[in-house]
Amino acid sequence: MISLNARIPEGPIAEKWTSYKSGSRLVNPNNKRKLDIIVVGTGLAGASAASTLGQLGYNVKVFCYQDTPRRAHSIAAQGGINAAKNYPNDGDSVHRLFYDTIKGGDYRAREANVHRLAEVSNQIIDLCVAQGVPFAREYGGLLTNRSFGGAQVSRTFYARGQTGQQLLLGAYSSLSRQIAAGNVTLCNRRDVLDIVLVDGKARGIIARNLVTGEIERHAAHAVVLASGGYGNVFYLSTNAMGSNVTPAWSAYRKGAMFANPAFTQIHPTCIPVHGDFQSKLTLMSESLRNDGRIWVPANMEDVDRLRKGEIKPSDIADEDRDYYLERRYPAFGNLVPRDVASRAAKERCDAGYGVSSTGTAVFLDFADAIRRKGHDTIDALYGNLFQMYEQIVADSPYATPMMIYPAVHYTMGGLWVDYDLMTTVPGLYAIGECNFSDHGANRLGASALMQGLADGYFILPYTISNYLAAEIHTPCFDAGSSEFDLAAEGVADRLHALKNTNGRESVDQFHRRLGKIMWEYCGMARNEQGLNRALGLIADLRDEYGRNVRIPGGMDEYNPELEKACRVADFIDLGELMVRDALQRNESCGGHFREEYQTPDGEALRDDEHFSFAGAWEFKGSGTAAELHREELHFDVVKPSQRSYK
Ligand SMILES: Cc1cc2nc3c(=O)[nH]c(=O)nc-3n(C[C@H](O)[C@H](O)[C@H](O)COP(=O)(O)OP(=O)(O)OC[C@H]3O[C@@H](n4cnc5c(N)ncnc54)[C@H](O)[C@@H]3O)c2cc1C
Repeated sequence: MISLNARIPEGPIAEKWTSYKSGSRLVNPNNKRKLDIIVVGTGLAGASAASTLGQLGYNVKVFCYQDTPRRAHSIAAQGGINAAKNYPNDGDSVHRLFYDTIKGGDYRAREANVHRLAEVSNQIIDLCVAQGVPFAREYGGLLTNRSFGGAQVSRTFYARGQTGQQLLLGAYSSLSRQIAAGNVTLCNRRDVLDIVLVDGKARGIIARNLVTGEIERHAAHAVVLASGGYGNVFYLSTNAMGSNVTPAWSAYRKGAMFANPAFTQIHPTCIPVHGDFQSKLTLMSESLRNDGRIWVPANMEDVDRLRKGEIKPSDIADEDRDYYLERRYPAFGNLVPRDVASRAAKERCDAGYGVSSTGTAVFLDFADAIRRKGHDTIDALYGNLFQMYEQIVADSPYATPMMIYPAVHYTMGGLWVDYDLMTTVPGLYAIGECNFSDHGANRLGASALMQGLADGYFILPYTISNYLAAEIHTPCFDAGSSEFDLAAEGVADRLHALKNTNGRESVDQFHRRLGKIMWEYCGMARNEQGLNRALGLIADLRDEYGRNVRIPGGMDEYNPELEKACRVADFIDLGELMVRDALQRNESCGGHFREEYQTPDGEALRDDEHFSFAGAWEFKGSGTAAELHREELHFDVVKPSQRSYK
C-alpha cells in the first residue's frame, strides 16, 4: 500500500520554506549537465519550470500538443495574478494572502504549501517585470492593482484582460532563450500518452507524434507534469478545447494518487449556454466584478416582461432590482468568492428570476461604473473583454448589462503531491493546475497564475535538486529497455483498439453525453441519489464507447479524432472517479456542494470532524474500485470556522 507523507518541514510556518531551502541537497553545475528532465506542458507552469531548469544547466525536454508553446491554455487567462506586495498600502501581507487562500479554499488545503505560495508571490511580480511583462501601471509609473473575489484588499496585478497572454509571452521568451542556448529541446505537436517507470521511479514518457503518428519514447532522470486541468470532462467549459487529463491520468494509472477529483470550480461570470451544438463556453473575467454589479429583477412581473422583450433592463428602477450579492453578503458584495457567487446565481435562477429566455442568466451591469468613472476608464480597464462579449452576443455592455451564468472553469483536484511537489511515484512531479496542491475546495481568482509560476520559477527548481542529488551516478537512460517496450506497446494497442471499434457515433457525441451527465449530477449541486445514478450512466457510456465509437482517418497521419478519442476515454474514467469522490465526501465545502449538507440559508456546511482531509485515490487496476487514502489536514495557524463573507 502507498503511504501519504506530505514531508512538511518542521518549524514555524513562516520559516519552513527558508529552512527547507537552506537544508536541501544541491546538484553542482557539472552534474546538472548529466541529468535529463522531461517537462510535459508549456503553459505558465511548464514554461516557467523548463526555462528555469534549463537556465540552471539541466538537460530539459519540454512537450506540448500545440504547434507552439505560446498556445498553451494559460494564454486565455484574463483577469490577473495575485501577490502580497501591498503596493496600494491597504493592509495586505504574506500572512493575509495565506489566510485568504486557506479560507477561500474552505479549509481543505495544506497550510505549509499555501504559506510558501504566498511567500514567493512577490518574487513572481519582480521577475515578470524584469522580463518585460506589461503590467498595468498608475499614472506615476507604479504597478497598479485591482480586487478579486474573497479578498478585501487589492492585490491583483494585471495586463488589461490579457494577463495570461502577457505572462506566457514572458515565460516563453525565457524558454526560447534556453532553447536557443541548447539547454532545452522543444517537442511540440506531441501527445503524451504514458509515463514509464523503471524500478518504481519515473524515467520517461511515451508520446505520439501528432503529425506523423509515430509512437516515440523519451527517457529522463525525472519527469515533471505541467499538463493543466481537467475541466473539459464536462465537455462545455471555459478551458481550451484541447485541455485534457491524459498525462495526469496516465500517471494515476502508474501509481500516482489523484486527489480531490470532485473539487471543481464553477465560475460565476460566463456567457450562458445558448444551444445544444455549442462546444465551448466563454469566461467574462472576475475582474469585471470590481465595477460590475450583479442583479436580477426583484419582481416576477418584470422578469416576465423582460423575457418577452416588452421592457429593457434599464427600464427597471433601482428599487425594483435585487442586487442579491450585495444584499446577502454586505461585507464582500459582488466580490464574494466564486463558489458563493455561483451558487447565489443558481439560487436566483432556480427561484425563477433568471433574465434570459432560458431563465439561466443574471445581469452584470456597468451603468453605475460608467457614470462614476467614465466610459474611457472602463474601456481602459475592460475594453477587450467588452469587445469579446459583443462579438459573441451582439450586444454592447456599454449600453446593456451583460448576461452571465456560472460555467465550469477550473479544477482544484489533481495529482496528489507532497511539499516537494512530487507525486507518490518517485521522480514524478506535478505542478500548476494538474496538481491538487494549494486551492483546497475552491480557488480564489488570480491565484492559479500565481501558483503555476510559483511552482515553475521558484519551488520546483529547489525541490527537484533535492531528488536529483541522489541521481548523479545514474547514467542516461536507454529508451530501448523492456519497460519502454512494454509501455510503447500498451499505447499502440490502445490506439489500435480505439481505431478498430468502427462504431457509428463520433467521439464528440460521446464527450457531449458525458458532459451532460457530469453537469447534471456532479456539477454545481450534487446529491447522493444523483451521484449514484451518474455511476450507472457513466458505466453504460463506457461500455457503449468501447463498442460504438467511430474514428475516421488513419493511424500514421495527423488524425485529430484519434487524439480526441484517447482523451475522451480517459475523461470517462476520470468522470467516474469524480463521482465516487463526490459520493464519499458527505459534506459541502467550496465548489463541492452536496445538497444534503447546507446551512439553513443555503451555505456550504462542512464537516471538519470527519472530512478535514485531502482524499487521494489509488488506482487498483481496470475494473477494480480505486482505493481512497486520506491526508489529514492540520490547521496550526488558521482556525477553521464557518466561512462568512457577510
Ligand atoms: C478563460 C480562463 C481565464 C482564466 N483567467 C485566469 C486569471 O485571470 N487568473 C488566474 O490566476 N487564473 C486564470 N485562469 C486559470 C489559469 O489560466 C490556469 O489555471 C492556468 O493557466 C493553468 O496553467 P498550467 O500551466 O497549469 O496549464 P496549461 O496552461 O493548461 O498548460 C498545459 C500544457 O500541457 C500541455 N499538455 C496537456 N496535455 C498534453 C498531452 N496529452 N500531451 C502533451 N502536452 C500536453 C499543453 O500543450 C500545455 O502546454 C483562467 C482560466 C480560464 C479557462
